[in-house]
Amino acid sequence: MRVFTGIAASPGIVVGTLKVVDRQRLAITEYVVSPKGVAAEIARLKAAIAATRAGLEALKLDLEVSNCEEHLNIIDTHLLILADERLFVETASIIESGLINADGALHRTLQKYRTTFASIEDAYLRERINDVETVIETILRTMTGQSHDNIVPDNAMTVIAAHDITPADILQMDRSRIIGLVTEIGGRTSHASILARAFELPAVTGVIGIANPSLDGASVIVDGLIGRVIVNPDRETFLDSLQRKRRYEYSELELLKLRDLPAETLDGYRMQLKGNVEIPEEGASVLNYGGGGIGLYRTEMLFMNRREMPEEDEQFRAYAATQQAVSPHPLTIRTLDAGGDKLLDGVPHLTEQNPALGMRAIRLSLNMLDEFKKQLRAILRVSALGKVRIMFPMISGLDELRKAKAVLEECKSELAAAGIPFDRQIQTGVMIEIPSAVMMADMLAPESDFFSIGTNDLIQYTLAVDRSNEHLSEFFQPLHPAVLRSLHRVVEVAHTAGIEACICGEMAGDPFYLPILLGLGFDELSMGSSSIPRVKQMLRRCTREQAQAIAAACLKFSTAAEVDCYLKSEITTHIAESFD
Ligand code: PEP
Ligand code: MG
Repeated sequence: MRVFTGIAASPGIVVGTLKVVDRQRLAITEYVVSPKGVAAEIARLKAAIAATRAGLEALKLDLEVSNCEEHLNIIDTHLLILADERLFVETASIIESGLINADGALHRTLQKYRTTFASIEDAYLRERINDVETVIETILRTMTGQSHDNIVPDNAMTVIAAHDITPADILQMDRSRIIGLVTEIGGRTSHASILARAFELPAVTGVIGIANPSLDGASVIVDGLIGRVIVNPDRETFLDSLQRKRRYEYSELELLKLRDLPAETLDGYRMQLKGNVEIPEEGASVLNYGGGGIGLYRTEMLFMNRREMPEEDEQFRAYAATQQAVSPHPLTIRTLDAGGDKLLDGVPHLTEQNPALGMRAIRLSLNMLDEFKKQLRAILRVSALGKVRIMFPMISGLDELRKAKAVLEECKSELAAAGIPFDRQIQTGVMIEIPSAVMMADMLAPESDFFSIGTNDLIQYTLAVDRSNEHLSEFFQPLHPAVLRSLHRVVEVAHTAGIEACICGEMAGDPFYLPILLGLGFDELSMGSSSIPRVKQMLRRCTREQAQAIAAACLKFSTAAEVDCYLKSEITTHIAESFD
C-alpha cells in the first residue's frame, strides 16, 4: 500500500483502477551525427512516416465503421499532409547538410513551416498549421517513442492519473466511465479542478509520483475531501475508506433536503445563491441543488477541442439551451475568457512567456472583433427568450469597458436593423478580478449594471500567486487582508452607485467564508452547483447582524492567519458547532 497526499481539488471518495496517461510535452533533442550515420537517420525518418501513415489508415478504417464523418475529414487531411513528398525531402536534406539526427531535423522543418504559415494573410489558411503540427508531432512521437495517450478509460471504474490534465481533456473524456482524477500539478482553482467539481469527479492535485507508469492498473482510493490517494490499499484502509465514502454520500443526500428552503438568514435576510456552469447540461444540476439561476456561464468551453470557432447560430443554440434549463431563473453569460490555462485550438497560437498576463479574456475578444461580435449577437438573441445578463471578464479599466460596450451597441444596432428581437434593457456587468479594476471600481460602477468578483483571479493577481501552481497553495489566501479590503471596497462602491455586488469565484462556494461575505454585504454568490447546499446551510444558521460584526472584526486583522483563527472560533462557537 502507498499513501500519497496532495491538494483536495474536488470532493468525494471513489474506489477504482488507476490508469496512468502520458500528457507530457514532447521533448526533442538535436545532436550531431557522423556522415556515416546519415543514411540510418534518413531510414528512421522514412520508417516513422510510414508507421504514422499506417496508424492513420487503421484509425480511418475504425472511423468508417463507426460512421464518424467529422473525424474522417480530419484524418484525410492528415493523410494528405503525409503524402506530400516535400516533408520527407526537406527533412532529409537538413539531415544530410547539417549532419543532425532525424528528430532534430524534423523539428527544424516544423519550425520553418510555423514561420511560413504565420506570414499567410488568409486566417483560414494560416490556421492549417494546426494540422501540420499534429502530423509532424505524431511522426516525432513515433520516432522518439514518446507516446501521447488519449484519455480512454479501461473500465467503468477508471481513475485517471496524469502529470497534468487540461480543461480540454476533461471536456473530451468519457465521463460515464471515469470516476476520479489525480494529477501531479495544478491547484484548487485551476480550471481543470473547477471542471472536475462541476462534473462531480473527485480529484486530488499536486500528487508527485502518481503518473509513474508502474502504477498503471493498480487499485486506488481517491479521497477528494482531504486530498489523499491510496494505491493498493490494505483491507483495513479499504474498509475504512468505504465507510468514509458512505458517510459523505449520506450527508450530501441530507443536505439536498435544503433544496426548496429559502436562501435566507435566521433573521430573514435573503441572499441570491446561484450556480456556475461550463456546459448547458449543467443547468439542470443548478436547479437540482437549489440554485436560483446561473451567476456565471463560462462560455469558453464551447470553443475548446475544435479548430474552427463556433458560429453565431451554434452559440445561440448553446446559450438558449442553458437559458431554457434554468428558466424562469436568470442567467449571466460571460463573454469568452480564453487564454491563461484555457487554450483554444481555434485561436492562432501565441507563444507567450507569461500566459496569465498575456493576450486573454476581454483583451483577446477586443483583438478579434468579428468573433467577439458573433458571440455578443448570439447572447443578445438569447436575451429575447428570458432574463439574461452579459458579463465581461478581466476588465482592467474604463477604456476596455467602454470599448466592449461600444461593440455591444454596434451588435444591438445590427440586430435592431435586421428586426431580430433582443432585450434592449439587457444588463451589462464587469468582472472585478484584476487589482486595477478594484482601484477603478468607483469609475467603472456608473457605467456598469453589476459587479461580479472573480476571486480566483483577483487573489492570483493581488498576491502574485499562480492559482494553478500546486507548490503555492499555502500562499493562495482568500483571507489575506489585501483581498478582504478589496472585497470590502468593491461592495461599498457598488452599493454607493446602486448596483449589485456579486462573487462568482471559488471563494463563494466555501461555506467557511459565508459569514464574511454575508457581513460585507454581497448580494449574490455564484458557485459550482454542488456547493450550493452547504453554503445555504451556513447562511440559514447566521443572522445578518452577527455576520456584519464578524466581517467588521475580520477587516481589522493584519494577517490571513489571524482572520482564519478568529473566523474558525466564531463559526464553531456561535454558528455551527460541528464545522470542520
Ligand atoms: C475567477 O477568476 O474567479 C472566475 C470566476 O473566473 P475563472 O475562474 O473562470 O477565471
Ligand atoms: Mg477569472
